[in-house]
Amino acid sequence: MQADIKRNIERISATLPSGVTLIAVSKYHPVEAIEEAYCAGQRHFGESKAQDLRIKQQTLPKDIYWHFIGHLQSNKIKYIAPYIHLIHSIDSLRLLQEVDRQGAKVGRTIDCLLQIHIAREETKFGFTPDECRAMLDTGEWRSLSNIRIRGLMCMASNTDNNEQIKEEFHAVKELFDEIRAKHFSCESTFDTLSAGMSDDYAIAIEEGSTHIRIGSDIFGPPQK
Ligand SMILES: *Cc1c(COP(=O)(O)O)cnc(C)c1O
Repeated sequence: MQADIKRNIERISATLPSGVTLIAVSKYHPVEAIEEAYCAGQRHFGESKAQDLRIKQQTLPKDIYWHFIGHLQSNKIKYIAPYIHLIHSIDSLRLLQEVDRQGAKVGRTIDCLLQIHIAREETKFGFTPDECRAMLDTGEWRSLSNIRIRGLMCMASNTDNNEQIKEEFHAVKELFDEIRAKHFSCESTFDTLSAGMSDDYAIAIEEGSTHIRIGSDIFGPPQK
């Protein structure tokens, strides 16, 4: 069955507290589906493949805010550096340095989130909380003038156990507060916590998420 994209966006938007941004995750969905969401007023979209994103960005209206949410390879940054609104998936200092280099090339300061590995699954990317603390403690990122660290991103475990999901989101919010106090107390721009997907966004919002990333609940199952 075809998803009713407009109605889904309206239904989800109606439940969001002010200050929470809905990112429509359009990966694996065609340009036509994104246009339908755009015409319903949606402006923030998330993609997970740099080359797919480049094609969609060239085709679609220029007032879309594009979010990169997938695993990012250094050699693909150039495809998104000229226009990307926010990269959610920084998982090493080296990647941050490379984004900075590409940002300098195109004369932009690129907003980034540090991805935190909190789920119990082995397969998810990201810093462990301790790796993240250690990276920030080096202070090396402070010399990078073409990136700005805006906050953290995480994915909870893929489980029906809501208590566990809640604990995971809660732990990342505590880490967020700790890092903000320690490294960003003078910068109001450390303000973004990207947490929550179709199945768990209500819990994520309760635990302090500012940006939810919703794919299948808007567009239906991925079409590949
Ligand atoms: C695919 C994806 C989403 C959206 O997932 P849904 O369960 O379809 O809402 C959110 N975040 C990331 C990082 C993703 O890869």
